[in-house]
Amino acid sequence: MTSKVISKSVAGISPSATEATSFLANQLKRQGIDIISFAQGEPDFDTPDHIKKAAIAAINAGFTKYTDVPGIPELRKAVVDKLKRENGIDYEPDQVIISNGGKQALYEVFRTICEEGDQVLIPTPCYVSYTEQIKLTGAEPIFFKTKEENNFRPTYEEVLANLTPRVKAFVINSPNNPTGSIIEKEQLKKIASLLSERGVYIITDEVYEHLIYDNRNPISVASLGKKEKEMSITINSVSKTYAMTGWRVGYAAGPREIIKAMINLQGHATGNINSIAQKATIEALNGTQEPVRKMVIEFGKRREYMVKRLNQIDGIKCQYPDGAFYTFPNVSALYGKEYDGNIIKSDVDVAKFFLNKAHVAVVPGVAFNYPDHVRFVFAKSMEEIKEGLDRIEKAIKELK
Ligand code: PMP
Repeated sequence: MTSKVISKSVAGISPSATEATSFLANQLKRQGIDIISFAQGEPDFDTPDHIKKAAIAAINAGFTKYTDVPGIPELRKAVVDKLKRENGIDYEPDQVIISNGGKQALYEVFRTICEEGDQVLIPTPCYVSYTEQIKLTGAEPIFFKTKEENNFRPTYEEVLANLTPRVKAFVINSPNNPTGSIIEKEQLKKIASLLSERGVYIITDEVYEHLIYDNRNPISVASLGKKEKEMSITINSVSKTYAMTGWRVGYAAGPREIIKAMINLQGHATGNINSIAQKATIEALNGTQEPVRKMVIEFGKRREYMVKRLNQIDGIKCQYPDGAFYTFPNVSALYGKEYDGNIIKSDVDVAKFFLNKAHVAVVPGVAFNYPDHVRFVFAKSMEEIKEGLDRIEKAIKELK
């Protein structure tokens, strides 16, 4: 039924597909059941002390008022320096906007460049919010499925086959949520060159760039050439790299015309982002990177253990993720099995089964437009990972 109150565009947003599992998990928790959650996509580490201290100093100094909408000059400069130092891209400060997390930066880019009649092409599996953010602009998200045997990396041929004349933008997310996949340099070069030659904007979501394993090296699209840079908007945030998910700081860098329009939009939607968090972010970007290195080493050990263990469990088939802190195993071999009179028929059923019988929460693949899989987060303590996987192994053995 259409609502008289809610606008069509907002009524058209799908509730988060992770909500159903969270709801059930919370219900069980309230009943006093100990749930191990591999569902929440954030580091289990605390924000490093030197970053917290910078925020406390900002409060004590009274740095608690409105700031420039696109961010304080010192922070925009720190982002420019970071993009040069780490990614080899030359931007000026007026090509950077600081926003409330990578999420707001993404929304503002879509809202700024897309409208009714446009399409945005996205390889799946993909991060849940792209789809809904694009729909809110009036544009149409369109998808193609990457192949499991390619470790979910989109290929040049797939991009070419799925480009339509209406495609205004393409989303690259490498390392990817939910698979951890990193697109290899040669493929990325071909894809970026094709898109930029065709006049398609590349929205490159690089929020997991530091969480990488096996000496892999994600490449920034905008570093690939002049044309590629002109057609790219780089999105990043301090959420994952610095264990700062709650601080809400992200940024976008790209062509001046687009960034300027995004600043206008942000000025009326939220204004500047939290002044204290901006000061903390300067320290995160310019200060020691040692805590990041330590966290990545720890995540690497957990990845190794989780993937190995998952592959030893009957009915679960798992790729090694290149980066991020997710693994996205195929669970379709569990279909047709039975517990308590329920037949498992989908990834959603597998997630329910894990929750009800093993008391472990995961996110079903449909949430990422890619069924037959579930997403596990390995940014959890080794004890929780061991215990969670023991429970799953035991529950699967008891299936009929
Ligand atoms: N992009 C991807 C792929 C993500 O997984 C997330 C967070 N889960 C974000 C962007 C947004 O993160 P934040 O707003 O915390 O920067």
